[in-house]
Amino acid sequence: MSDIATLGFDKEVQKRAKEYDWHRLKLSIVVFSLSFLAIILIIEFGISTALKDFITQYTSVEWVIIALFLLIGYSFVWVIMLPLNFYEDFLLEHKYDLSTQTGKSWIFDRLKGFMLSLVLILGVVEIVYYLLREVSEFWWIISWVFMTIFSIIMAYVAPVLLMPIFYKYEPISDDNLKKRLLGFADKANVKAVGVFKMKVGVKTKRAVGALAGLFRTRRIILSDTLLENYTTDEIEGIIGHELGHHVYKHIGKILIEGSMFMFLGLFLADQLMEGVIQYFEFKEISDIAALPLFGLFFAIFFMVISPIENTISRRAERQADQYELELVQKPDAFISSMTKLCDQNLRDADPHPIIEFLFYDHPSGKKRVEHAMEFKLNIQTNTVNMSIVGK
Ligand SMILES: [Zn+2]
Repeated sequence: MSDIATLGFDKEVQKRAKEYDWHRLKLSIVVFSLSFLAIILIIEFGISTALKDFITQYTSVEWVIIALFLLIGYSFVWVIMLPLNFYEDFLLEHKYDLSTQTGKSWIFDRLKGFMLSLVLILGVVEIVYYLLREVSEFWWIISWVFMTIFSIIMAYVAPVLLMPIFYKYEPISDDNLKKRLLGFADKANVKAVGVFKMKVGVKTKRAVGALAGLFRTRRIILSDTLLENYTTDEIEGIIGHELGHHVYKHIGKILIEGSMFMFLGLFLADQLMEGVIQYFEFKEISDIAALPLFGLFFAIFFMVISPIENTISRRAERQADQYELELVQKPDAFISSMTKLCDQNLRDADPHPIIEFLFYDHPSGKKRVEHAMEFKLNIQTNTVNMSIVGK
């Protein structure tokens, strides 16, 4: 831990960050195991089939059966999971002094999240089950095309329709910062990308900087908790990093990677689910009562591929860091903003390599600071060499 302190991280805060990380990890293992067990029990004890039979007493229209099955099933799961979510998202966040949110605001957010995800999941499930019924052999390829288009639309509307449901935001008003940004955008050959302030301070103490959106909705988003607590040099650095993501077209690349993984997931589902479904004595794959098994399959699939996705993401983050260091040329501001961000967000700056490989979508704070120090050393050496040559 000592070298972490010499890099500028707060030793005590970092100790708490490690503790917090372990707490969350243990919790997610419990949540996953319980969900796994619950789905198997729901299927084994015929609860899923009973729900479908109950609904079919009232209607025989396929899409209505699916909608009601999902509405009842999803609401049930949501209520069951609520205490665990409350512990993880509210109590734990307050215990570690990360949250500023009131209980009322939290439950309100949960309800909004529930409605939103219900509508989105319903859309996806209705279309996939329609394809399973109508074009059974190629359901997965057409589903893949649909999912890819769906994820592009989601990326496009996220900053203008989805994120404002939870956080208010507005274009930044600081003229000085705006001017500097335009200078960078010019230097980076980027035409127009707006910078927005997101008001997260009423809910969390964490600081956030991100690039979001596609085409005309593309924008850099900085939280109020960041804009209010960081120096102009540090904020400039963070904007430079986000510009790096923009220049390297990382959002587009993430969408393509996501689409490729989705192709693999749907292909595997097509190959494996038939057998699984027969094992649990369902007549056909398009039986809506088998939906929890599909859910379980994709939960496992995404868990297995997440270290690969994280590795790709860490590489993109390194690229954006390098881009920022070269564009802004202020490694000291980079280093101080990095140590501040890790401490503020209670992010373990020096995780075990296995933990970093499995769960970290950004390189560890320690690695990022060391990288900036190397960069600083290089420009210093170059300056000395140049001045020797100049003499
Ligand atoms: Zn980034």
